[in-house]
Amino acid sequence: MTGSLVVVGTGPGNPEQMTPEAAAAIAAAEDFFGYFPYLDRLSLRHDQRRHASDNREELARAREALAMAAAGGKVCVVSGGDPGVFAMAAAVCEALEAGPEEWRDIDLTIIPGVTAMLAVAAKAGAPLGHDFCAISLSTNLKPWHVIEERIVAAAKAGFVMAFYNPISKARPNQLGAAFDLLRHHLPPSVPVIFGRAAGRPDEAIRTVSLADAAPEMADMATCIIVGTSETRVIERGGKQPLVYSPRSYRGGSA
Ligand code: SAH
Repeated sequence: MTGSLVVVGTGPGNPEQMTPEAAAAIAAAEDFFGYFPYLDRLSLRHDQRRHASDNREELARAREALAMAAAGGKVCVVSGGDPGVFAMAAAVCEALEAGPEEWRDIDLTIIPGVTAMLAVAAKAGAPLGHDFCAISLSTNLKPWHVIEERIVAAAKAGFVMAFYNPISKARPNQLGAAFDLLRHHLPPSVPVIFGRAAGRPDEAIRTVSLADAAPEMADMATCIIVGTSETRVIERGGKQPLVYSPRSYRGGSA
């Protein structure tokens, strides 16, 4: 008997930013797979089972979840934010493609969530108001030279960039290198937003110019939005400045 597998995103942290569709899917599932802090965010019932694992074990976790669903389980795989953005939905698809034929019969549903860059952008204003892209700075799954090429291409093309996985203890140097690279391609006045723990009690949103952007301003819980030469900052007295990227192109190079 084939069961079901639902892949959900909890949103950035604030329970109100979890969609009702994700909450309903969680209520209907019996076995939960995910990185343990994400499972901790759910208020599971006593009859719902946790299978928590470390963050680095995504493919193994996806295979376990698929195997349990293939055996008839009602399984839920949990990501933070949106499950399709640098998260478990792609890992589940990778495992399914490489796995046994019967996994293709599993009733698979992927439920979207509010991804970190949207939560950070909303707090800052509208920095993603024109064309944008998202880049993970993690070298766990791709080499650094690819990341550099993508950053330069995005800067030259005038995309706002959202950096995920910007820095970690194992990777302390890449964010500084990314800012140095950007300073060669963008004006020093370009706004850079450091959005830390958006939607959580320890949330901190800070905007500086690219000239002043420093890796110490970020940690693993930070999503960084780098504007373009068109991105504007509206100062508002004692309030946090509003950062936005105008909808219409005003010309000039990136
Ligand atoms: N699937 C997640 C992203 C997972 S990658 C999503 O859609 O948001 C993990 C990275 O996401 C972190 O290193 C950080 O860059 C970002 N992130 C996740 N939650 C965040 C939050 N609440 N505030 C700011 N950045 C966050």
